[in-house]
Formats: sequence, structure tokens, C-alpha cells
Amino acid sequence: MENATPMLRQYLEIKEKHPGTILFFRLGDFYEMFNEDAITASKELEITLTARQKDSPNPIPMCGVPHHAASGYIAKLVRKGFRVAICEQAEEAGKGTKLVRREVVKIITPGTVTDSQLLDPKESVFLGTIDSRGERCAIAILDLSTGEFLCAEHLGTDAWQKAVEQLRAFQPKEILYSVSLSQLVLETFRTDGVSGNVTLTALDDEFLDFESNENLLKSHFGLRDLSIFELDGRKSMVSVAGATLRYARETQRETADHIDGIKILKAEDFLVLDPVTLRNLEIVEPRGDSKKRTLLGVLDSAVTGMGSRMLRSWLVRPLLDLKEISKRHDALDSLHNSLLRDSLRDSLERVYDLERLVGRLNLGSATARDLLALGRTLEQTPSIKRSIEASDSELLRALGSRIDQLPNVVELLSRAISDEPPLNISDGGTIRDGFNSDLDELRGISRSGKQVIAKFEEDERTRTGIPSLKIKFNNVFGYFIEISKSNLSKVPEDYTRKQTLANAERFTTPELKDWEQKVLGAEERIIQLETEIFNQVRSSIRSNTASLMSTARSLAEVDSLCALAEAATRNRYTRPKLHLGDELNITGARHPVVELFMDGEFIPNDVLMNNSTNRLLILTGPNMGGKSTILRQVALIQVMAQAGSFVPADEAVLPIVDRVWTRVGASDDLASGRSTFMVEMTETATILLNATSRSLVLLDEIGRGTSTFDGLSIAWAVAEFMHNSNEHSAKTIFATHYHELTELESLLPGAKNYEVTARENDGKVVFLHRMQRGKASQSYGIAVAKLAGIPQSVIDRAKEVLNRLEEYELAVLSSHGKVESNKAASKGISQASLFGIVNEAVIDELRDLDHSKLDEKALRDFVEQIRSRIV
Ligand code: ATP
Repeated sequence: MENATPMLRQYLEIKEKHPGTILFFRLGDFYEMFNEDAITASKELEITLTARQKDSPNPIPMCGVPHHAASGYIAKLVRKGFRVAICEQAEEAGKGTKLVRREVVKIITPGTVTDSQLLDPKESVFLGTIDSRGERCAIAILDLSTGEFLCAEHLGTDAWQKAVEQLRAFQPKEILYSVSLSQLVLETFRTDGVSGNVTLTALDDEFLDFESNENLLKSHFGLRDLSIFELDGRKSMVSVAGATLRYARETQRETADHIDGIKILKAEDFLVLDPVTLRNLEIVEPRGDSKKRTLLGVLDSAVTGMGSRMLRSWLVRPLLDLKEISKRHDALDSLHNSLLRDSLRDSLERVYDLERLVGRLNLGSATARDLLALGRTLEQTPSIKRSIEASDSELLRALGSRIDQLPNVVELLSRAISDEPPLNISDGGTIRDGFNSDLDELRGISRSGKQVIAKFEEDERTRTGIPSLKIKFNNVFGYFIEISKSNLSKVPEDYTRKQTLANAERFTTPELKDWEQKVLGAEERIIQLETEIFNQVRSSIRSNTASLMSTARSLAEVDSLCALAEAATRNRYTRPKLHLGDELNITGARHPVVELFMDGEFIPNDVLMNNSTNRLLILTGPNMGGKSTILRQVALIQVMAQAGSFVPADEAVLPIVDRVWTRVGASDDLASGRSTFMVEMTETATILLNATSRSLVLLDEIGRGTSTFDGLSIAWAVAEFMHNSNEHSAKTIFATHYHELTELESLLPGAKNYEVTARENDGKVVFLHRMQRGKASQSYGIAVAKLAGIPQSVIDRAKEVLNRLEEYELAVLSSHGKVESNKAASKGISQASLFGIVNEAVIDELRDLDHSKLDEKALRDFVEQIRSRIV
């Protein structure tokens, strides 16, 4: 530091104030990085690492990127999870050696990106904050690019876990937390396979201070108290929300007025889908790499990015309120009219991402092209508004009433901004002729000056007799007369030499200098004035933020509804009948994604569930029979219905469910250091502790990751619990290859057996994919293995082993005096009967017991022994 040059000292001072960022330090046309930042950036960006003061004993590592190409490099770093601080020159570089003042104008972090280059139009980027005090835990979630701002609070011993799960469902790119929670946060999120590449940002504890955050929220929203958001006195939520907003404003160095409200996420507002269920059902992300094979991929034909984002949020947070859901369904009924739908979609095609445009407008980064896009979007609104206000859907009419055409804004923009504004305002031509008389005058001077210069060129050619004489311009030398070497002898006396090139010489004259000053002076002032006018126009439009936001959200919603209506028509969906009872009765149910991507014909199925007779469905059937498909299609249909979509079924009568849980055995999470079985059990435990009578639970092969008897016992106990628990029993479908579980039907009144069917023809299985009452007798595992290409010798050997095992099992059973070890009988009894037979054997012993012959101790021992054998 002592030996550092003044510039480096300035760098180090600024760097110290922005720890945890890579500092892009503006030096002329470059952003330079030094020391550790240079080493990291050169590696991550694959750019050359050089050094300053190379020959000194302590050279300073350095690398740089040209300022005009910086956004690509910044994007790359932010995508990799880095925070980038942009440090600009805060004043014009003057003559002499005085150090230019520099300051950080913006910090770009993974959770606060708003630059369109860094954003996927169809995905929101969320910044999350989490805080925990005792048994109270709060989260806040902000999409800075659109101003969507949410918070929530959880209480109790599992508050942290619930808050984490809720936060994860948003897949935030960055999570803020106070340093005192570092250990807990790092343990929770670092090894997190679900939220993956999240950037964790620790803040000083004061950042979460209640009082200052409450004041910030009040002043941001211009309120005396926070009661309109129901946040009065709710310290934990106010603290996290305030901290989130503060971070957003501090990184952007802007007030972010488009954040116009904050909503509390209440458990009673949304159907909860935890990240594991979202992933298992492939609602928005595919499990493999097939991009489109998700529910969102099938439903999303939205024509705007904001429509796609809206639809995505509906699918991950479906509704619970029957009235609200019905309103969406009514809207879809109205949009079934293809004339209306097509004309709306046609207009929406010409609509830009208004939500993000308004975001950029309020973050000071909107360009002239953004304003032009905003104006063009508003031009589309009258026809959209007119069409939906005439609709018979209450929701569409309400959306129509929230669309504001803002004619003043349209008029201002069409008068002020030229048709093709340049990317950079410094290139000139942003403001339209005729908008400002001073600007017009300056442009006149500049234009006439240029004409005079053109005329001067003509005159000089004649005067000197040099036809190739040219007047040229560049940024360093201004205007000059260029004469080729061969004509130098004809150069008049009054020319002053400016520069010598290989083949030509450059000159000027007093007259040319004069005009140059006029033109350049005018041009400089033009840029200044254009910038001023542009900023005025921008802030005048910005004063309409509230109307623009409500228009943007309405347009997004209309687009999202149109997409659902389009999918419903294209894929032959029907309107579900939702009710507040407990019956789930779907006829002709199809899997919305599988049906579109499979080769053959999809076989629809009927599913009946309720909280009495059909509470627990035990679904058995061969491998590849279609069990998982049925499970998922029931879940997806329920999610679609509550999200407001129509569903792939002939008819669907559905209850409102509070949660959908899907668990699939054998999905490991090695990254987090949890084995397959551990993951499975942890996930199952969460369900057992949290399901309610209004939940829908879909268990696929739970209990498979351990030894057969351990697994079977767990599966049995879990199924029983889901049926019997007073607090946590839920509608459950349990798909399994443990055929023993089908015994539950005779033991539990709400358990029913269903099987997907298959036929065996000459040793070949034919899958019928049909679900019907009954239990499967075998899994055809070996037949499926054969289909998969397992060598014949292995298949033959497997059959041999299977035969032996079956004989062994029968021998065991017969030792209970019940079954003869005979192959023919074995087919009828199958593996499924093990539990029943053991129990029956116990009953037989009881029946045969002559208790009069036993003393009290022997009787007690006998009861103990019997009890230990009952399954
Ligand atoms: P396993 O027990 O081996 O996990 P499974 O019974 O869960 O098998 P699925 O994975 O649901 O079987 O289905 C296997 C394949 O069968 C699917 O990928 C799909 O191609 C096809 N399939 C499933 N259901 C149907 C259906 N209703 N109509 C047509 N094809 C279907």
C-alpha cells in the first residue's frame, strides 16, 4: 500500500469497501481487475493474466476487459455465482495528472440481476433472505426485475425446516442471512442438491435490525405504518423484508420504486409442493435433460416472457381458494372461443416484457430502445382491454379494468423517441426532431456545418486541382484534409500539416478549424441535451409506475390464461369439477406429458379415492406396467386443476387438496452425503409428520432401498400409518412390488387393491396399462429384464433361482402346517400371501389351544409368543 501509486491506492480503498465482490475498475476504455480478483477473473473468464509493476519485487496481478464488451464477461461471472462491483469514473478525465474520482455505481449479484442479457425471459430470478430467532423463522423473496416481493413466517420447533423448504421452492439464486447464522445456513444450503448453485451472502447482524428495516419499508412505500400489508409489529417478517429491500437498493444504487408492495405468503393460500415433489412430478424442470418434457413445457405456449413466468408461478404455487380457482376455469371457458383467443394472442405477440421494462425504468437502466418497446406495448393495450372487458368471465373483465393504456405516455414516447434509437445515447439520434426546439437548432447548426464542410471539400478540389482531395474526420484529430503523397506538390501555402501517414499527409486550414469547432461544439451539446431530455422523459414515464405495473401483471395473466386455454383445446382437456368434499373421481385420466411424447396410444384410466372406503390404494403390477405413470398423472391432474388449468381426463371430480407429496424410492442425493435409503426415509418421515386429511400422497416403491424384510416391514407400517393416523392420514396411492401389502385390503376398511394388468404370451409380457380392482400375482421382473437385453444365460439362471426361492418360501409356509409344497398351489398363493398365512397360522394355534391345561406363567408366555408373531 505504501509503495502503491495514487491510482492503485484509490483502487485498494474502493476494494476494501466492497468485500466479497470482484471489482471492475474503470480505466479509460477498460475495466481492470487486480490482485486476487485478477487471478480469479482471468481463470473464470479465460482471459490473459498480466501484471502491473512487472519488474518490481512485488508485481501486481492484473487483467482487464474492454468496457464495450463488459456485459458478457459480467454475465459469465454472475452466472458462476460471483458478485461484481462496477466502479466508474465519476468525472471527466481532465488535462494534467490529477487523479479522476471513481465510485462504485452498481453491484451485480446473482440474486439482483436485471440486465436483459443476464435474464432468461421465461424464468424469474429470486433473491431470498432467511432469518431465525428461537422458534420463529422468517423468509423474504424478491424478484428485483419485476418487483414481486413476498415474505412468510414459520413458528415452532420445525420452523427452520419449513422456512427452508418454502424458500427452496422458489429456487433463489442468492440467499441473504446474518453472519450469526452462518453455520446453520452453510450446513443447510452448501450441500444442497436441490437448490444447487445458490450464492450465499452473509450480512452484518445490523442488516436485519427491526427498527431500521421497518423505517426503510415505511419510507419506501410512503406509509406511516405497514398495516396494509398486515405487517404491523410482525418483527421477523419486517426484518427480512427490509433487509432484502435494503440489499437490492444498495446494490443497484437506486430506489427501486417498482417494488410497490409486499405480500405475505400464507399456508392457507397455496397448495404446497415441496422441491422433491416438484422434481418428481417434473412440473417445471425435467429430471433428465429433455427440456420440454415437463408439465410447464406442455402447457406453456405463452407468447410473452412475463406470461411464461406467471404460468410457472401458478404451477409451482397452485391455489386453494375454490372461488379463485373457478374464476380461472371460467376464464378458460371464455377463451375456448378461438376467435377471442387468437386475437388476444396476436396482440400479445407484439407486447414486450413490460414487467421487466418497468423494472429497468425504476433501476435507472432503461435505454431508449426499452422506452420504445414500452410505448409499442402500450399501443397494443386498447384492443386487448376492449376484448376482455366484453368477456363473460369475471376474471378477464377484472384484468381488463386493470389495464391502463396511459395515452399520455404513448403520446410522449411517440413524440420524443426516434424510430430507431442507437444503443448508446452518445451516438446521437435518440430524440426525435421537432420535440425540442433547442435540440433542433443545434442539429441545424451541425447539419449546415457539415454541408459547409462538404462544399468546402468541393471548392478545395477545384482550387488545388487535386481531384482525390478528401475531408475526413476522426475522434482524435477532428476534421482534416487528406492528400495523397503523389499530390503533395500541389498543396497550397495556407495549409497547415497535422499528421503524416505512409501514403498521405493530413492538413487543416483556419476556415476548416472554424467549422470544425462549430460542428463539434454543436454535437457535444446535442449529446448533452439529448441525455437531459431522455432523462426527463424517463422520469416522467417513471411517475406512472403503479399503472404500468398493474398493466404488466394483467397482460401477463391474460397471456398465461390464453396459454392454458390453448393447451386445453390442443390436448383435449376438460374442465375439472372442484369441490370442498373429499371425493377424487377421475374417469379417463391421462398423463399430460407422457401422452404427448410416447409413440403408441396412451391408455386412459379411472381413479376413485376418498377419505373413507378408498383412502389407501395399494397399486401392484408388473415392472413397466404403468404404476408410476398413474401415480404421477393423478398428482399432475390435481395440480393442474388447482393451478387453474383444465385437465387430461374425460371427467374429473376433485377435492381441494392442501399438499401433494410424491416420493419415489431409490433417488439418491450423493452430493449431500445422504445414501439412497437415507434420502428415501428422510423424505418419508416428512410426509408422515406433515400430511393432513386434505393431502394427496403418492408413494412409489417406498422401502426398496434396504433388505427385503426391513423394506417390506417399513412399507407396511407406513401404509398403515397413512390409513390410520388421526392427525396425518391422507389420501394415499402406494405403488409397490411388495405384493404382501395387498393383504392390507382385508385388514383396513379404507384400503383397496388395484393392479395394472399384463398378459403373458409365450413367455413374452404384453403390458395393457389398464388399472383395475385386484392384486397382481407377479412382477414379471425377469420378463422385463429380458426385454431390456439381459443375456439369455443370465435370464435362464434367474428363472432357476426364482423357482428355488419359490419352493423355499412354500416349504417355510408349509412348515406352519398350512400349505403343501406343491408347484401348482404356489401359483395361486404367490408371494403375496406370506403375511396372511403367518397370521392365519397364529389364529389356528389359538383355536387349537386348550388353555385349561396351562398355568398362569405358561399362558402369559404363550400370549407373548403369539403377539410377537402377529404381523
Ligand atoms: P416399474 O415398476 O418398473 O417402475 P411402472 O409400473 O412404474 O414400472 P411406468 O414407469 O409407469 O411403469 O411405465 C412404463 C412405461 O409404460 C412408460 O414409460 C410408458 O411409456 C408406458 N405407459 C405407462 N402407462 C401407460 C398408459 N396408460 N398407456 C400407454 N403407455 C403407458
